[in-house]
Amino acid sequence: MRSTLAALVTTALLGAGLLAPPAAAATPPAAAPPVTPEQLVTLVPSRLVPSQPSPGDVRRALARVARDSAGRVRLGVIGRSNEGRALRLATVGHGPTRLLYVTQQHGDEPLGTPAAIRALWALGVPDSAWHRALRSRVTIDVVVQANPDGAVRDQRWNHDPSASGEYAEPGVGYDINRYHNPLTPTGDNPVPEARAVLRWWHRTEPRIVVDYHMQGRYQQPDGRETTASVLWPTSALVTPAAVTTGRQLAVRTDEATTRFPGAYVTRYPGGDYEGIARNGYGILGSASLLVELSALPHDRVEFQIRTAFASMIATAQGAADGSLWRTDPARADRIPARGPALPGLAATLHDAA
Ligand SMILES: [Zn+2]
Repeated sequence: MRSTLAALVTTALLGAGLLAPPAAAATPPAAAPPVTPEQLVTLVPSRLVPSQPSPGDVRRALARVARDSAGRVRLGVIGRSNEGRALRLATVGHGPTRLLYVTQQHGDEPLGTPAAIRALWALGVPDSAWHRALRSRVTIDVVVQANPDGAVRDQRWNHDPSASGEYAEPGVGYDINRYHNPLTPTGDNPVPEARAVLRWWHRTEPRIVVDYHMQGRYQQPDGRETTASVLWPTSALVTPAAVTTGRQLAVRTDEATTRFPGAYVTRYPGGDYEGIARNGYGILGSASLLVELSALPHDRVEFQIRTAFASMIATAQGAADGSLWRTDPARADRIPARGPALPGLAATLHDAA
C-alpha cells in the first residue's frame, strides 16, 4: 500500500515537475523548482478527511498521514478537553523556525481542520527536494480541532456546564478564544483547551501563529462577496514589530488566497482584547494572524478548504525561504474593510472571531 502510494506521489510530482529525477539528486535545494499550493492540493487523497470531521475522523485521518509520511508527520496530544477528548497536535518538519497553526477553537467553525490535515499530508508525504528543503528549515505544529467537545455538539463554546463570566455561555461552556491572555496565571485559566495551546507556545516559542476560524457571509459595496477575512494583532500591548510581522502574514495569506479565481479577502473587524489568540500570541511576540473563512454555500466548501490550505502552505513556504519577512507590510492597508452582512441572510455563526 505504502509503495503504491509512494509511486503515485512520485509520478504525480514528476508529472508536475516537482521532483527532480535521480540524476539531479545533488542539485542544491535552492535550485529546486517552486511548488505552488495549487499543485500540492491536487496530490492529496480526496477522501483523506471529511469537510466537517468528527474527533474520530480527525484521529483516523492524522493516523493515515503519519503512516503515509513514514513518520515525517509526528502525532501528539497536548492536553484533554473537559470530556477527556485528546487535544491533538501534529508536527511536520524539523527546522529552526517554528510555526503554530490552530484550527476549530470554535467547534462550529470546522473548515480549517480539513485544510490543515491536507496541508500536513502535502508537506509530509511527498519527499521531493523542495519538500526536504522546506522541512529542514521550518517546524510546523498544528493543533488540529482545538475544541473537540464543541465539534461534537457543533457549538462555538467548549463543554463546561459550570462556565460563568463575561466570555461564557452559562450552562454550556467557555469561548476558548477569549482565554489566551498571556497575562493570566495558568492556574486562573478555566479553559483546558486554551491552557494547552498557551503551554505549547511557551514550550516552543513559535515565530508564527495562525488561528483559523469561520464567519458568516458579507458583501462589499461593489457586490463582491468576501470569501475570507484576516486580521493581525490590534491590542495596545503588542509591540510595533509584532504588528508588522502580523501584517506581513496577512499580505501573504491574501496573496495565496486570491490566486484562486473568485476568492476575495477583506479585513476582519476584530477587537483589542488580549485573550483573543490573535492578540495574545502577538503580545508574546509571535507574528500572529486570524483567518476567518466565510460560511459559503455547500458547493463552495471545497473551494474554501483549498484557499485555507493555500494560506497554510504559502505561510510555511514564506517562513522557510524568508520571503515572508521581505513582504511589504504596508500592503496590508490595501486589504479592504469587510462589508456588511449579505442582505436577507440570517447570521448562522457568532461573528466574533
Ligand atoms: Zn471563531
